[in-house]
Amino acid sequence: MNAGEAFARRWLIARGCAPVRAGALAMAAGQRARRYPRAVALLRAAGLWLIEFVFPRLLLGRWRRASRLDATAFEELEQRAHHAGRLWIRGIYLLARLPLWELRHAEPPPRQTPHPLEPLLARVPPLTDHAEFDVIVVGSGAGGAPLAADLAARGHRVAILEAGGLVQGETTAGALAHYYLNQGFVGGASGNALLPVMLGRNVGGTTPINSATCLEPQPPFLRQWDRITGLPFSDGLLSGELARVRETLGVCVPDRKLLGASGEIFERGLKSLGREGAYVLPRNTPACEGLGRCPFGCPRFHKRSTDIAFLPLALQRGGVLYPGARVDRIAESSTGVQLHVRFRDGQRLSLRARKCVLAGGALGTPQLIRANRLGSHWRAAGDHLKVHPAAKVLALMPDSVHGERGIAQGMGYQAPELPRIAFEGIFTPKSTVAPVLPCAGAAADYWMDHYDRAASFGMMALDRGSGSVRWTGGQPVLRYALHADDVLDLARGMKLMAEAFFAAGAECVLLPLIGLRNEFITAAQLADFSPADVRAHHLVASGFHPQGTAGMGRVADVDHRLYGCRHIFVSDASLLPDTPGVNPQLTIMALSLRLAGMMDTELAS
Ligand SMILES: Cc1cc2nc3c(=O)[nH]c(=O)nc-3n(C[C@H](O)[C@H](O)[C@H](O)COP(=O)(O)OP(=O)(O)OC[C@H]3O[C@@H](n4cnc5c(N)ncnc54)[C@H](O)[C@@H]3O)c2cc1C
Repeated sequence: MNAGEAFARRWLIARGCAPVRAGALAMAAGQRARRYPRAVALLRAAGLWLIEFVFPRLLLGRWRRASRLDATAFEELEQRAHHAGRLWIRGIYLLARLPLWELRHAEPPPRQTPHPLEPLLARVPPLTDHAEFDVIVVGSGAGGAPLAADLAARGHRVAILEAGGLVQGETTAGALAHYYLNQGFVGGASGNALLPVMLGRNVGGTTPINSATCLEPQPPFLRQWDRITGLPFSDGLLSGELARVRETLGVCVPDRKLLGASGEIFERGLKSLGREGAYVLPRNTPACEGLGRCPFGCPRFHKRSTDIAFLPLALQRGGVLYPGARVDRIAESSTGVQLHVRFRDGQRLSLRARKCVLAGGALGTPQLIRANRLGSHWRAAGDHLKVHPAAKVLALMPDSVHGERGIAQGMGYQAPELPRIAFEGIFTPKSTVAPVLPCAGAAADYWMDHYDRAASFGMMALDRGSGSVRWTGGQPVLRYALHADDVLDLARGMKLMAEAFFAAGAECVLLPLIGLRNEFITAAQLADFSPADVRAHHLVASGFHPQGTAGMGRVADVDHRLYGCRHIFVSDASLLPDTPGVNPQLTIMALSLRLAGMMDTELAS
């Protein structure tokens, strides 16, 4: 048994696993981790060696292998590694345990049904070298698909090239492995905290695995857009496009009986505190059954993500879509654009188009711009990254909650005193919650053992802070600095959520903090928690809305065209000049339709 397996087996035994089963699971975890992105797999292997041989000496002052520590010392090692001030220790320790949690709480595989796009895709002719189109759209998500459908409907020859494949019913862990960019291993450091950033890589982009909340951009935030671009966004510039998007997506407010229990508990708590105004979030799931699987791909295809709502329209109107097609080189000439595409099977083709639309998302589009030095402002691409840093509070209720049932992101709330914090429901299934728990060892086991009684609610900061993305060796590398005011807002937000849960009868709350007290069992205890003490490195946060990395007014002009280019446009989250003040998919789709209208005129002339 190698060092990694020895530690993994010991960790599983500490969780109450029988030694024989622990050995088998430890080996299976090793095999699972070998399928992680190469750099992550290597890092984990090296990290396991350090944990087994170096951590006991470094953290406990003991010359013993970690796997041979007695129960008390092993628990102490867990606590010190988890709460370590040094980021690399925390990171390695987290990575070491990821596949173990995944296997311990494995879900049965769901029944897979054919994707509704399959019959249409079967009719798409194979792509040939030097094929020509009016428009090639790189990426099929919120920014790419609406424009492709609209231009195809107007009679233009449109091709959509998408690096990802179709999203079908998957387990939670399977969805992370197959539908998320880099299997979910994308992130950066903020202060001394890890900040994972999630993004999809699918037909439909991130939309088949998002939480389906559909909110319109907020005028107070759009005023900043007006200042950057000189356009009247806050005066309803996108209102026509937003109405069309809402109609195509079937946006509606779901029946309350479909909502997960956490939202109702949180709302009850708010009311006890005298806070009215929690509301049901509008969604693009008109036929929703409340399965609670939105971020892992709806097994019934009831979410009208772009693969369901827009891409079928594009194909029915003569457009063509190629999944598994990754664009890596782009060059502009006076008459159009040449693109090089690499398919999953290794085939390479060269294509031509009169116009090209970059819709590869907030991380993919700046990669293409920088790698190909597109436009006069390519050096600015990748900067000004915003992520809407998000965090959640867990509460242990006296009775069972079963938060995994029903719509997780169903309720919203806006606290008047925190205008840059949006409160939204969230519930993470058991198989993936352990890595984001802010506690370890016996405390984490307790939460996992009682997870059927856990309620949770989340929030995101409409960030003042920003960062950057660069690609190195095929991996996105993010840097992000949480702004001190965002940290304070998030800390005040978590206190408010915890107060609401206590008011609703919680027995215990767990705040998303490491290195500060995070567990409270009475409201009186919580009163001593001071948000001003929280620093960036204490926060357990993640980002689900990367944006702004090829912003209008910075890298692209007000017609979405890259500065210095004639034929290359941007249409995705990277174009947003600043936060729209809400979850961004509706805004991105509306901008996509705006660009389609402008391109139609240009193509016709
Ligand atoms: C878990 C989660 C929950 C979310 N929930 C919500 C929500 O409830 N409401 C909301 O409004 N927003 C939500 N979002 C965010 C929202 O889904 C995204 O902001 C939006 O989809 C971004 O659109 P996009 O067009 O920029 O990129 P994407 O939708 O990510 O599409 C980009 C596509 O381009 C492809 N691509 C990239 N590079 C290349 C290349 N070189 N060649 C070919 N293809 C390429 C990628 O594979 C990807 O499929 C959520 C996000 C996550 C991760």
